Amino acid sequence: MAKPLIIARDLSIIYNKGKSNEFKALSGVSTDIFEGEYIILFGPSGCGKSTLMYSIQGSLPPGEGTLLIKGDDVYSYPPAERVYFQRYVMGIIFQSFNLIPSLSVLDNVALPMIFCDADKTTRDRRAQSLLDRFGVGHVSHKIPAMLSGGQQQRVSVSRSMVNDPKILLADEPTGNLDSVSTQQVMDKIDEINTFDRRTIIMVSHNAAHLSYAHRVYYLKDGKVVREVVNPQRKQIKPVREGETIVTELEQLARLFPYDSVETLRVKSLVNYLTQDYSFDQLMRLEKATSLFIQGKIDRDSYIKSLILPLERGGVQVDEKEARRMSTIAQKMITQGDDIRRYRARKDNDGIFFSQHKLAERMKEHLIHGHRIKLSKDQDKNMVEMIADRVTGVIEDEEMNERMMKGVRSGGMALSEKEADDLTRYFEKVIAQGVDVNYKN
Ligand code: ADP
Repeated sequence: MAKPLIIARDLSIIYNKGKSNEFKALSGVSTDIFEGEYIILFGPSGCGKSTLMYSIQGSLPPGEGTLLIKGDDVYSYPPAERVYFQRYVMGIIFQSFNLIPSLSVLDNVALPMIFCDADKTTRDRRAQSLLDRFGVGHVSHKIPAMLSGGQQQRVSVSRSMVNDPKILLADEPTGNLDSVSTQQVMDKIDEINTFDRRTIIMVSHNAAHLSYAHRVYYLKDGKVVREVVNPQRKQIKPVREGETIVTELEQLARLFPYDSVETLRVKSLVNYLTQDYSFDQLMRLEKATSLFIQGKIDRDSYIKSLILPLERGGVQVDEKEARRMSTIAQKMITQGDDIRRYRARKDNDGIFFSQHKLAERMKEHLIHGHRIKLSKDQDKNMVEMIADRVTGVIEDEEMNERMMKGVRSGGMALSEKEADDLTRYFEKVIAQGVDVNYKN
């Protein structure tokens, strides 16, 4: 298995250690970043994103824990070697561009090459070709102040690439840009990842950027609280069985990056229960469902709050509908518990209730709820499929396809509609039972 390019283990960083204003900006952070990945460090201002990035960049030594880049502790390098590392292994782009105002655009880009062997003509040629590539070649003779923000940032992208670094770090690179320039800069950085195959580590608090990355580490108060893979990008980090199973929650987590796992669960369930409700009704339903998922109200109170008229804070659905919703919600929550038990018991098979029995039970619920009759072989294949999906061996699409396959090829020979209904329902149950929390 490929080794990570960057490994952080229990990394803590303390500013002003031993002084009255001592501050722990990072605590117990562990990350594995693989060559060629596009990683976003995401979270509210002050959560420690830049601290983590500058630590990887070699200018903030860990207070505790380890940080290895290509297997090396760069902080143990002699000063000259560390400078070499920062100059040739890492490229960096800043929010405020950090161009030198008195130098021409061309000289700004050529500057980091001054310490290499190439002569001035070669350096200028390389700088110019990068400026051309990033769409600012025509302004190379100007000074930075004569350029727009978007152009200046594309100059700094050119400068960051001039020594052909392996890793490109970007600290809120579009924080000072309008939306058109933001798009241009994001596209260029994306190209550096997909075309030049460079590893990207970007600090951002813009949710619109998350779709570019392979993975996002969510930080809060100096800790990594969640790691979410992007199901739309083929993953580079090897995914171990059962580690990430790409659930609806992960997709919701990208849409609602600041929401807690509980809130995402509520959204998943409410979305299933409703199709044609008004916004007001949906808000009320989310509130009631949230209390129900947390166990703060029982089923009867849940039903009551669904029936209650809008002006009295209820959802205003009729009693039959309220009962139907509560039955489904209750089932999904209970069945979600089975999923959780199954995954928790991965290594302790047979202690209380064997994994196999749990898979059987999940199958019973699923089949019963959808009024499908199964032969013995279909039944056996279904239990296997459930086990594979719950441990993350297969994704939802594959499970869906397998359900439609013939029984001899491990399938269940279901119709497309039956397979779709079962898949949709089961993914909802998984969303209740699997976390998207960061696994240390
Ligand atoms: P982010 O990039 O997520 O906005 P930072 O990593 O810049 O957050 O900062 C994390 C926390 O550490 C903040 O509370 C910030 O005030 C504090 N901090 C950052 N740099 C220093 C420093 N040089 N000295 C003291 N505290 C710092």
